[in-house]
Amino acid sequence: MTVFLDHVTKVYDGDVRAVDDVQLQVAKGEVVVLLGPSGCGKTTILRMIAGLEEVTSGKLWLNGELANDLSTQDRNIAMVFQHGALYPHCTVRKNIAFPLEVAGVLDKPSMDARVRELARGLGIEATLDRRPSMLSGGERQRVAIGRALSKSERAVLLMDEPLASLDASRRHGLREEIGALVRSLDLTTIYVTHDQVEALALADRIAVLRDGALEDIGSPTQVYGNPATAFVASFLGSPPINLLSATVWVEHGQRVIIDFGSQQLQLPWTDPRAEILTQYQSLTVLVGIRPDMLSQAREPAAGSALQGRVHALEYHGHEWLARLEVGVRLVDIDTVKARSRRPASPGRAAASPGLVGGILSRLGPGRTRRSGPASDPAPAHHRQPGEHRRADIVMRLDSPRGWDVGQVVSVTVDVASMYLFNADGERIDKVPY
Ligand code: ATP
Repeated sequence: MTVFLDHVTKVYDGDVRAVDDVQLQVAKGEVVVLLGPSGCGKTTILRMIAGLEEVTSGKLWLNGELANDLSTQDRNIAMVFQHGALYPHCTVRKNIAFPLEVAGVLDKPSMDARVRELARGLGIEATLDRRPSMLSGGERQRVAIGRALSKSERAVLLMDEPLASLDASRRHGLREEIGALVRSLDLTTIYVTHDQVEALALADRIAVLRDGALEDIGSPTQVYGNPATAFVASFLGSPPINLLSATVWVEHGQRVIIDFGSQQLQLPWTDPRAEILTQYQSLTVLVGIRPDMLSQAREPAAGSALQGRVHALEYHGHEWLARLEVGVRLVDIDTVKARSRRPASPGRAAASPGLVGGILSRLGPGRTRRSGPASDPAPAHHRQPGEHRRADIVMRLDSPRGWDVGQVVSVTVDVASMYLFNADGERIDKVPY
């Protein structure tokens, strides 16, 4: 079955806009993961698809049929919740078989065979004669999934954080099994989580939501490697991306300076993004640098290095993280508005001179339009003793290779890979999918 949300909005009583003009198309057999922080509207989308909540405006299409007013029973949809409720007095076998018994379309041997087949697929065959109280949390959740899937003609599976109540090792195993199962059944699946690892591992496509609106949608590699907004770049990735505020200075035909105040990076004029950045002359942009876009510089090339003091070195087993005081201005993503809260044509907002004052003031005091690159008189590693210091940026290392806490070091920035966003957090150098 296909699912299509066409400009779907949900407003709850009290003017709570839980879902805001969402466009989402799910192909038959596709696994789409709805990812976003608590309260971004994920569950509400599932409930509208299942028919448990009315659509306030927009159209919901199921298999090409307008489904806004279709009853829940007629939607042919299975749903698994975070705490899959089971009938406590019934065995696992009976719990899984229950929807089949109600439907009354299969004879007993066929029903038994179907239950066994599902239990085998979910790795719970040995528990078929137990009651729910005799199962672990992971096993209970598998039974809930088995029950949701037992009616074989179910065409869409909706899963609302089905692994949230499990510990890390169980989550991992069951996540793999869910992925294998829905793919083997060719089931159209919409899966809700706020866990980026789960989303990246399971999805054919990830839809990232914030404040009810879709921020980005694409394959895991697309949304991680080529994010549409600063929010998406910040939400995906561990440790999170370094998001810095900078001013753009264009020297036509020569280079573009990304000016952090105390330090600068440069793009050569041959860089494909130089042309785009001419529209942002003397304006604020946000620069996204993932921790693995930084490396220890032996002989840093001009315009692609930052200097800083090592604030901390953390050993994480498979990697090290270095926290560097670089004296740049970090952007708190919560101060960058969600797409749903921005005016129309957000992509161009930062280039509009009328908005510049507001954008600069939102990014904090002291950001005024200037006539050329700044030279900060007190870079981080030259500050006076006692002046407040903080770890500005995070980078990952295979090993600290001669670095020590307190040392002033140079790091090379993979300038070609870093992301650029306007002050509203819209990507300005995005490669089209
Ligand atoms: P979580 O990850 O915490 O489950 P979510 O992304 O699934 O969150 P929703 O449960 O869809 O988010 O809620 C979206 C918004 O709608 C929230 O602000 C929530 O408080 C609000 N909301 C949800 N249900 C109702 C309701 N019945 N009446 C009013 N507001 C509601």
